[in-house]
Amino acid sequence: MRRHAFLIWAGIIITGCAQGQSAENTHMDFEKYDPVSTLKVPEHPLSRAKYPFIDVHNHQWNMGSQDLAGLVKDMDALHMQVMVNLSGSNGSRLKEMADNIKEHAPKRFIVFANIDFDGIGKPGWTEKAVQQLQEDVQHGAGGLKIFKTLGLSVKDNTGKRVTIDDPRLDAIWDKCAALKIPVLIHAADPEPFWEPMDEHNERWLELVSHPGRQRGPKNPAPWEQIIEEQHRMFKKHPQTTFINAHFGWYANDLDKLSALMEVIPNMYVEFGAVIAELGRQPIRAREFFEKYQDRILFGKDSWVPSEYATYFRVLETADEYFPYHKKYHAFWRMYGMHLPDEILKKIYYKNALKIIPGIDKGAFPD
Ligand SMILES: [Zn+2]
Repeated sequence: MRRHAFLIWAGIIITGCAQGQSAENTHMDFEKYDPVSTLKVPEHPLSRAKYPFIDVHNHQWNMGSQDLAGLVKDMDALHMQVMVNLSGSNGSRLKEMADNIKEHAPKRFIVFANIDFDGIGKPGWTEKAVQQLQEDVQHGAGGLKIFKTLGLSVKDNTGKRVTIDDPRLDAIWDKCAALKIPVLIHAADPEPFWEPMDEHNERWLELVSHPGRQRGPKNPAPWEQIIEEQHRMFKKHPQTTFINAHFGWYANDLDKLSALMEVIPNMYVEFGAVIAELGRQPIRAREFFEKYQDRILFGKDSWVPSEYATYFRVLETADEYFPYHKKYHAFWRMYGMHLPDEILKKIYYKNALKIIPGIDKGAFPD
């Protein structure tokens, strides 16, 4: 499949030459080629979700001092009832955010705490981290977010990479179960970041435009190894609810993700930044949504309100061959899954209400 896309390009070049055009017209940058589609099919662009929804994957770094009214206005336009801010930090920073929410928009935001990995390995680190988490939840945190730094860059006090299934973290996962809060965790990055950056790499454009994202088997470890650390950790803590961010980077292999869903019943998934993977396989993706409709959450990640339109359209419509909003994620076009209302409601809010504490249910239909 990878080669296929580039054969199409070769075909364009050959056709151009055959018509006797000059070399300047027959070669152009991949980034520049942006043909206007001539396909005429029904179009249903959506700027607003059909139901109020909970975005479980958002980042707002200054929520302690932020004027929330502006955010709420943008959320209202999208029909976003609740935003989960995963960048809650911990300690006084988290408390400031939780207090600002309580005072100004108590029903519209949830904040997740983060672990400070500094000093892991030193005596007492684990106990201190667990204590901090308990305090953060008392101050209003509704969950724990683990960034991809765990598994990629976090090192212990001896300079060793801390694996995602490091036993020094076990008490934290167990504490989350005891506190009845979910853990949203992002592990590694898309697999092509570990592959050679050449004409066969689907993420070539992203790697060219974001050179810091390139990885390798020793930078810091093979992709499968980091991903498997995460799965082992999930299995070791069956009482803890985990939300695997970005479909666990298996949105492009739903058979594999299905197999994981079967053996890790405490794992939920959210589709932040991977809707383009679903929108290129609407038939298989819809099957997946039908089967795992109780364990999929709405996530987006980067806060760019105009980009939510692509998510709504892939989830709700039966539209064909419509554009995605970022060429470096997808140089292909989208197709809608046309999910039924009952599944949409679960994805948009019912599943999140089930596992994230502290959200007012009153604003959501039955
Ligand atoms: Zn994120």
